[in-house]
Amino acid sequence: MLQPVATGHKTLADYTHICGRGLIDEIRELAEPLKGSRVVHLSATAFGGGVSEILYTLVPLMRDVGLECEWQVIYGREEFFNATKLMHNALQGAPQDLTEEQWETWRRYNEMNARELAGGWDVCLIHDPQPAALYKLVPEKAAGWLWRCHIDLSTPNQQTIERLLPYIADYPQALFHTPDYVPAGMNGHVHIVPPAIDPLTPKNMALSPEDASYVCGQFGIDIDRPLMCQVSRFDPWKDPLGVIDTYRIVKESISTMQLALVGSMASDDPEGWDFFNATIAHAEGDPDIHILNNFNNVGAIEVNAFQSHADVVIQKSTREGFGLTVSEAIWKARPFIGGNVGGIPLQVEDGVTGFLVSNVEDCAKRTLEIMEDPALGKMLGRRGKEHVRAHFLTPRYLRDYLRIFRELQQS
Ligand code: UDP
Repeated sequence: MLQPVATGHKTLADYTHICGRGLIDEIRELAEPLKGSRVVHLSATAFGGGVSEILYTLVPLMRDVGLECEWQVIYGREEFFNATKLMHNALQGAPQDLTEEQWETWRRYNEMNARELAGGWDVCLIHDPQPAALYKLVPEKAAGWLWRCHIDLSTPNQQTIERLLPYIADYPQALFHTPDYVPAGMNGHVHIVPPAIDPLTPKNMALSPEDASYVCGQFGIDIDRPLMCQVSRFDPWKDPLGVIDTYRIVKESISTMQLALVGSMASDDPEGWDFFNATIAHAEGDPDIHILNNFNNVGAIEVNAFQSHADVVIQKSTREGFGLTVSEAIWKARPFIGGNVGGIPLQVEDGVTGFLVSNVEDCAKRTLEIMEDPALGKMLGRRGKEHVRAHFLTPRYLRDYLRIFRELQQS
């Protein structure tokens, strides 16, 4: 019932020229005593959103350094994903907690998945709250357990976090992006480890300006006119409506401006389609607003092209666990403007490697500044790219995991 995910093959050595030999050697040394360890990652979906994005890179690299690593997706039906989406929103601060029945649904599916999980793992890594109850239910199935939280738990709905806490508090190891996200009452070893992007995937590999323009042109973008872009799921926290409002202010000064909102729809996100339709309605038929999703054939290369071609890349989130799209955009050395929330300030130093904003007006003001001063945009982009190289590429993330696995091995 737990579905194994095929991730393909990756080779750590290919990253040497991007990340430097020192880091690659350090990874190999850490991995040596871990060779043959049986590691399983469990997540709610293999498609859409940041978690799956990360695992498609991390899992093959863990294999490449000698671990017997697998990724399995838990079983769930609509009733489960409706409950977990609500839980996700509540944990990020939404006022509505799950009903008693929804909590029961969450637990029942966790019990089902716990029964199905094979035993004998050295490490079981549970991603996010959806399968979080597994450790409590079947601790004997793995020697080491780790809960990886990908969301912003800094101001959770109190009722929801209190209900979840008994299930997550006792994980021997837990990982969070920032110290602000660690809920009070965690009893195990807490690590602060932000995620990272893969510089060699089709989404992030170097794309020539001509190729990027060509791809954007295919989606109806006029490549001779300026473009603002946001890439993210259609979700209220990502604030695509605020991006449209920003564009409208910018367009008063730059009438040729265009906007692309590129958003994939995740299979575990039943609300996504409603909000997608709300976003289309907010655009009021403006032909310079392009709203695209993965059902229009917008895949990784297209995301790369939009991020590489845009004059300004925006991530105007009002809550953001980390925001892989932030590092993705900055890695392309584009001028970036993001909401000053969650994981975004980790990746962007205001005025140095991009801009941080808290409302539509500031977002529009910064966009205009960048448009009027190309040298400023270039400088932000160049510095930003080096910041991402130093902190947010997958080999660094792999190293951090291996360090934790070594700790588990020695404990
Ligand atoms: N993404 C994509 N296509 C889209 C929209 C998003 O491939 O149309 C990817 C995006 O490039 C990023 C991930 O989905 O790699 C989203 O991760 P992030 O951490 O930004 O946000 P999450 O969706 O996990 O909240």
